[in-house]
Amino acid sequence: MWPSSRLASIGCRSVLILLASVLLAALPPFAFEVPAAKPKRQAEDLAVRWQPTAPVNGSPVVFRVTSRERLQSLSGQWLEHEVFFSSDVRGKLWYGIAGASLETRPGHYLLELKGATITGQPVSFQKPILVGKGKYHSIVASVPKQYTEPNAEQLQKIDQDKALKERAFARITSEREWAGRFHPPVKAQVSDVFGTSRIFNGRVQSVHQGLDYAVPKGTPVAALNSGTVLLAQSLFFEGNCVVLDHGQGLLTLYMHLSKIEVKEGEPVASGQKIGLSGGTGRATGPHLHVAVRWQGVYLNPATLLSLQLP
Ligand SMILES: [Zn+2]
Repeated sequence: MWPSSRLASIGCRSVLILLASVLLAALPPFAFEVPAAKPKRQAEDLAVRWQPTAPVNGSPVVFRVTSRERLQSLSGQWLEHEVFFSSDVRGKLWYGIAGASLETRPGHYLLELKGATITGQPVSFQKPILVGKGKYHSIVASVPKQYTEPNAEQLQKIDQDKALKERAFARITSEREWAGRFHPPVKAQVSDVFGTSRIFNGRVQSVHQGLDYAVPKGTPVAALNSGTVLLAQSLFFEGNCVVLDHGQGLLTLYMHLSKIEVKEGEPVASGQKIGLSGGTGRATGPHLHVAVRWQGVYLNPATLLSLQLP
């Protein structure tokens, strides 16, 4: 039984192959060469990578998008914010900066990319980006009541500052002004990290939205990257404060300075001295507080400083 059934099956297959060959030969050759419709744009037209590779809540994220074809434009959407992209001269390599706020819950968040080739063909790409849970500390402190309750005159100054900051922060420059790595503002140890909850008198009062460097008064403070001076003023809480706009919605803030050495509207180079550290504003002592803000969201400066950027 075995041999004959095997023979029969081989015979069957041979007939099928023969039939297929006849059919193929009968069909006109161009049927296989000309696609019936325009090929659908494949997802592989765009590829995206990001740094840090495992972002957490509070992380800045730099997206690197490569395109097979030259693109005239590219924009993105992530965590309900627009992500601005800038390209190299060839339009095939694009960088955009974004971030996940401290409030972002762990999970996948879809990055949606839309662009157009130089011939006007639309391209799009979607990629879920995993945001993990950052490890942040909390400290418990007890402070006298009057320290958290400013007087009427101080409240007026606080309100003025608030309006001033809101105006400054409302500006989003889509163009990229930052280039290459972000550098620490001073050569010193970090004395307080980002994301620490400060629980005053039994309830959460504030979250530390920046990095502290314990430097003596008069230490030169350098710009983290190239940009434009958005704000250079004395504020109630922040003291002498400089805010730099690095484009793509990214700002860096330098607080409690003893001296400001730049003017609003002035361009600054990466590493340029913008002032001297101090203890102005509501500071317990001389130190530099540096913050990173992206479209209204405070991000971890330490993460930004660790990214390997071209
Ligand atoms: Zn601080």
